[in-house]
Amino acid sequence: MKVEIVAVGTEILLGDIVNTNAQYLSKELAALGISVYRQSVVGDNEERLLQTFREALTRCDLVIATGGLGPTNDDITKEVASKFFNKELIFHEKSWGYIEDYFNKMGKEPGESNKKQAYFPKDAIILENHHGTAPGAIIKGADDKAIVVLPGPPVEMKNMFKESVLPYLEKYCDRTLVSKVLRVAGVGESTAAEKIKDILDNQTNPTVAPYAKQSDMVFRITASGESEQEAKKLIEPVEKEIRNRLGDNVYAEGDTTMEEVVAKLLIENNLTIAVAESCTGGLLAARLINYPGISEVFMEGAVTYSNDAKIRRLKVKEDTLNKYGAVSEETAREMAEGIAKEAKTNIGVSTTGIAGPGGGTEEKPVGLVYAAIYINGETKVRKLNYTGSRENIRNRATVSVLDWLRRELLLR
Ligand code: ATP
Ligand code: MG
Repeated sequence: MKVEIVAVGTEILLGDIVNTNAQYLSKELAALGISVYRQSVVGDNEERLLQTFREALTRCDLVIATGGLGPTNDDITKEVASKFFNKELIFHEKSWGYIEDYFNKMGKEPGESNKKQAYFPKDAIILENHHGTAPGAIIKGADDKAIVVLPGPPVEMKNMFKESVLPYLEKYCDRTLVSKVLRVAGVGESTAAEKIKDILDNQTNPTVAPYAKQSDMVFRITASGESEQEAKKLIEPVEKEIRNRLGDNVYAEGDTTMEEVVAKLLIENNLTIAVAESCTGGLLAARLINYPGISEVFMEGAVTYSNDAKIRRLKVKEDTLNKYGAVSEETAREMAEGIAKEAKTNIGVSTTGIAGPGGGTEEKPVGLVYAAIYINGETKVRKLNYTGSRENIRNRATVSVLDWLRRELLLR
């Protein structure tokens, strides 16, 4: 099945809002193995919208349109889609009842203008909106071509897509789609892709799609089968092979975060932790504290940005700072040991680096970060190098240190 996405709204054309709806839908559809052939944006103009639908449906089987389902006169998507298929709009009592309920729940009454939102072609599949007023619809024409109309506000659109459109698409595909996400860290995007190149190149069912985020990447394996069980069976050997090739670079599956993995390892091993951060400025502590239950093991995080703070709070030697500088192996080591000693924890972790954009030298360029991990009497220091923006460098350093800690904990 070929799909095109049409975002309706003059606001998008003017650049007042970003078309995140198209991004969301494309991503969801790609994960399902459904090809999105084109995305377009069109203003709230009947003629141009009609033409957009006409062109799109000569190329594809299904158009998913978002926006323009509101109560006002410039909300015309459903009306134009119906006109395109030559379908008359009929008042739909059930939807009106639903719209009334939605308003009543907020202690209000729907206005006369909301009536428009309860009109649909007779044979349309009406999609309930549990997060707003406008129901969506799947409007089918002859030769099985269809236009799905969804509301513009992202929360309404996403929920309606998940609740009503996905199940419809699965039926339409006549297959069940199952996907599994493997999360990977500690290896570059291209290196990881290289390691499974043959799998990426020769995929049909399941498909394997890489997505790279900041210093974290995921591989989404998607299989379609006649049943969920069959699809899962198809995923198994591919997952196993990817895990084999990438080894412990695969740190989690699904939505499990790096901090969750690290936190659980700390708790399992009964190891307490404190962190001393310079360039990451609290990001490391914040990530760990994202995990509920971390209080069992996380004792303290100090953002020791100045030399004075490093000396006073962590007992870094003034000599060390003078001789090697704040961004150095020696300082990172003393920071990690210092915070563990001060907080009386098993583990101390530190970061110190040059996040930029200024402050770099030839010897110590922007993106140079030293990190140290002290665990029960033993300290390891790593020199890391990044490029990119200040935000990028800080985020990537944070994830790398978490991943390094994960690996250290796995050795125990
Ligand atoms: P409403 O009943 O709120 O008028 P609607 O279905 O008519 O909903 P629009 O009027 O087109 O939708 O858009 C309402 C709001 O939804 C916009 O102001 C914008 O904030 C958001 N929105 C619309 N389209 C998009 C899009 N493609 N991407 C992201 N946000 C969008
Ligand atoms: Mg509107």
